[in-house]
Amino acid sequence: MMTLEFYRNLPDKQCKECGKVMDEQHECYVQECEACLKNDAM
Ligand SMILES: [Zn+2]
Repeated sequence: MMTLEFYRNLPDKQCKECGKVMDEQHECYVQECEACLKNDAM
């Protein structure tokens, strides 16, 4: 279960706007979830 341990050691990445936990595979430089990014774009 190496993969499970790997993910367990990662801190939860949360959207800085709404606090939603995001997928770690999301671009690492993005600190907002897709919903908040769309709001910013408008
Ligand atoms: Zn958000």
